[in-house]
Amino acid sequence: MLYELGFLLRSEWWSKAQLRRLQVERLREIAAFAFQNVPFYARKAKELGLSAKDIQHVDDLNRLPLISRDELLRSPEDFLSCRGQRNLWFHSKTSGTTGEPLDSYFDPYSWIVAKYALKMRRVMTLKPRLGSRIAIIEAYSAEAIEEHERKQRTLWDGVLFNRKYLSVFDPPGTHLEILERFRPDFIYGFPSYFKALAKELEGFSRKPFQVKALMTSSELLSNSSRSSIEGCFGSKVQDVYGSTEFKEVAWQCAKGNGYHINMENVMVELIDEKTGAPASREGEIVLTTLSNRAMPLLRYRTGDRARWREGDCPCGRGLVMIDKIEGRIADYLTIPGLGQISPYAMTMAMEQFPDIKKYRIVQMPDYSLEIRIVRDDGSRDVTVDQRLQEIKEKMDLLIRNKVPVCVTPVAEIPISETGKHCVIGKE
Ligand SMILES: [Zn+2]
Repeated sequence: MLYELGFLLRSEWWSKAQLRRLQVERLREIAAFAFQNVPFYARKAKELGLSAKDIQHVDDLNRLPLISRDELLRSPEDFLSCRGQRNLWFHSKTSGTTGEPLDSYFDPYSWIVAKYALKMRRVMTLKPRLGSRIAIIEAYSAEAIEEHERKQRTLWDGVLFNRKYLSVFDPPGTHLEILERFRPDFIYGFPSYFKALAKELEGFSRKPFQVKALMTSSELLSNSSRSSIEGCFGSKVQDVYGSTEFKEVAWQCAKGNGYHINMENVMVELIDEKTGAPASREGEIVLTTLSNRAMPLLRYRTGDRARWREGDCPCGRGLVMIDKIEGRIADYLTIPGLGQISPYAMTMAMEQFPDIKKYRIVQMPDYSLEIRIVRDDGSRDVTVDQRLQEIKEKMDLLIRNKVPVCVTPVAEIPISETGKHCVIGKE
C-alpha cells in the first residue's frame, strides 16, 4: 500500500504525455489479460479478429465494444476472470436506482489501490495531520451505525486517523453536540446533508466546530450548492466522482474546480450517447480499468455525463480533468427548500427493511412523495401499519419534512416500458 501510494504521489506530477504513456502500457497489459482470461473478451476478440498486439494506442480502445450495466447484470460470470484465487477477491455490491443488485469483484492488489492508495492520495491534498479526526455521515440507520463503525475499524484507526460514524437519518440538529465534542478536522457526507446541517448552524454566532474541509460524493453538487456550503462552514468542499464498479474515478484538489482523473488506474472516455462516437467536448462517461484483474471492465458505460476541462490546473498536477459532473439528473428528486436529493440515500433507506420485496418512490407534480411497497408475504415480525409508519418516519427525516410523504402497500409494481424496474420516478 505504501509503495503504491508513494508511486501515486510522484506520478500525479508527471506531464500529461507521460501519464498517457503509462495508461497505454497498462491498457495493453489489461487487454491482453482480458482476451486470455475473461470469457466475454475472449469471445469478442475472436469475433473481431483482435489480439493483444492490436491494442497499441489509446485510439485502439475503439475497437472494443462498449458494455453496459444491463449486459453485466445479465451474465456476470462472463466478465469474471478464470484466473486468480477467487477466495481472495474483494467484493462490493450496489443496487443503484434500478433496484437490481450488481456485484463487483476486485483482486487484492487493485482493491488496495482503489480503496486505499488513491483515497489516501486525495485526502493528502487536504494536508491532514497524523491522527486527524474524520466524521463520516453514512446511509445507515442510527441502530446499524455502531455495528458499521466496528466493522470499518482497522489497525490504522487511532494512529493515522480517528473516525466517527453518524447516521444520515438522524435529524442533523442532534449531530451538533456530537460534532462539537468530537471536533472533526474533516466531515464526509452528502451535499444535501451539509445543506441541512448548515441550516442548523444559522442561529449560532460562533460555530460550535471548525472543519478544514468537507468531503462529498454520490450526489450532484452544483456550483451554487458548493459556494453556499463553503460559505456557511468557512471551509473547502472536496467532491469525488466514483462508482461501485471502479471506486474513485475523479476528484477535486484544493486549488481548482475541475475533477482530476485517477489516470493511473482508470481510463476515461466521453462518448456521444446515441452514436457511441468519441465526444470532443461533452458526453457520457465510459470507463476502462487499468488494474482490476478479477472483473476487468473495458469500455463500461456509466450513464453519467461530463465535459473535458481544458488547460492546466493551478495545482500543477498532470492528471487530466473533467468538469461539471451532471450525473443522471433524471434520478435526482428535487425537494423544495432542500435541493436535489440523492437516489442513493433513498435506496439505502429502503433497503434497511428486509421484508420490502419491491418498492417505487414516486414524486407527484406538487413535489410530494408516494412510496409504493410490495411486502414479503412470509414476514410477520411487524404489522403492515407499523412498517408503513417506520418507512414514513425514515423518509420524513431524509427529506427533513419538506414535502408530504405517504406510503401505500400495493399488490405489484409494474415494470417500466424500458423493461427495467426503476425505483425512483416522477408522475
Ligand atoms: Zn488541481
